[in-house]
Amino acid sequence: MSNAWEQQVRRVVPYTPGEQPDFPDMIKLNTNENPYPPAPGVQKAIQEMEAEPLRLYPAPGADALVDALAEYHKVKKEQVFVGVGSDDVLAMAFLTFFNSEKPILFPDITYSFYDVWADLFRIPFQRQPLDQELSLRPEDYFGENGGVVFPNPNAPTGLLLPLTAVEEIVSHNQDVVVIVDEAYIDFGGESALPLVSKYENLLVVRTFSKSRSMAGLRIGYAIGSEKLIKYLNDAKYSFNSYTMNRPSLELGTAALADESYFCEMTEKIIATRERAKKELAELGFCFGDSKANFIFAMHPKVNAEELFLALKEKHIFVRYFKKPRIDQYLRITIGTDEQMDQLFAFLKEYLQKRGVL
Ligand code: PMP
Repeated sequence: MSNAWEQQVRRVVPYTPGEQPDFPDMIKLNTNENPYPPAPGVQKAIQEMEAEPLRLYPAPGADALVDALAEYHKVKKEQVFVGVGSDDVLAMAFLTFFNSEKPILFPDITYSFYDVWADLFRIPFQRQPLDQELSLRPEDYFGENGGVVFPNPNAPTGLLLPLTAVEEIVSHNQDVVVIVDEAYIDFGGESALPLVSKYENLLVVRTFSKSRSMAGLRIGYAIGSEKLIKYLNDAKYSFNSYTMNRPSLELGTAALADESYFCEMTEKIIATRERAKKELAELGFCFGDSKANFIFAMHPKVNAEELFLALKEKHIFVRYFKKPRIDQYLRITIGTDEQMDQLFAFLKEYLQKRGVL
């Protein structure tokens, strides 16, 4: 029996983030972080940073970063919204735009924060099953709904929808807001950003956590029509005026200035990913054609949870989801070439020991 006050608590089943173990010898391939450091300009900006200005509140409109992002993406600054990681941006977007009695739609296998925010904000939702190959079918999103959200590439599958398919979803849903979560788009996908000028109801969400190696700083942003961004800001200012702290604003702006480092690092990760596909295929793993910085793989002759635990024992961390349809898969973040080689060596030995290689 709970107390009277407890019966009024807004209860939620929280999202479970990936583990953040801290062993000196670990190979951390479990939370889709970038294995390379942020752009050198970020380090330089940290060294030049002064403590004194921290006594002042940051700019509530996060102007420096918003301006830099607007220039980078060739949009107006009124089309840019920033937040504390894309989780913050997505949560604010759910709160602002998903306010219908009709259910919002998202895939059954997707970023597992979507149903948590929906529960938290009491938004009805419906999961649309991915097909046999774990691909998203655009036509599943054409029916009446209260909004649509999906990652492209999808997580944890890594599978990319071509821009034409994304546009089909948006064009069939012009009476609701469509959120395309592009956390992993920089690893080889075609962004929906060019569609923003065509569809007033399309919000594209991005992050500095993956391709810009800044998960620790918590910077995310959204680009959409001026109207969408105004509504998002109205909700933000009704919640917390100063979401972005001064160091994040400064360091995020510094990161954007170095395009060549950004391209070099994302290309490096893409090359390692493509090599990883060959290595994993040779070991007998099955997986889709990931366009993200991770591969979602299963081995027909190996129990995924057992392999996950065996890897963990060796301080090789990958992500395992004990959920229907995907409980035989492991999501493996792309690390450095050296880290991946250690993973392949372990897998080879593991499979040989079990006589399945
Ligand atoms: N969207 C997707 C699909 C993700 O996988 C993640 C990472 N957990 C996020 C959004 C949130 O990333 P962040 O808050 O670090 O920007």
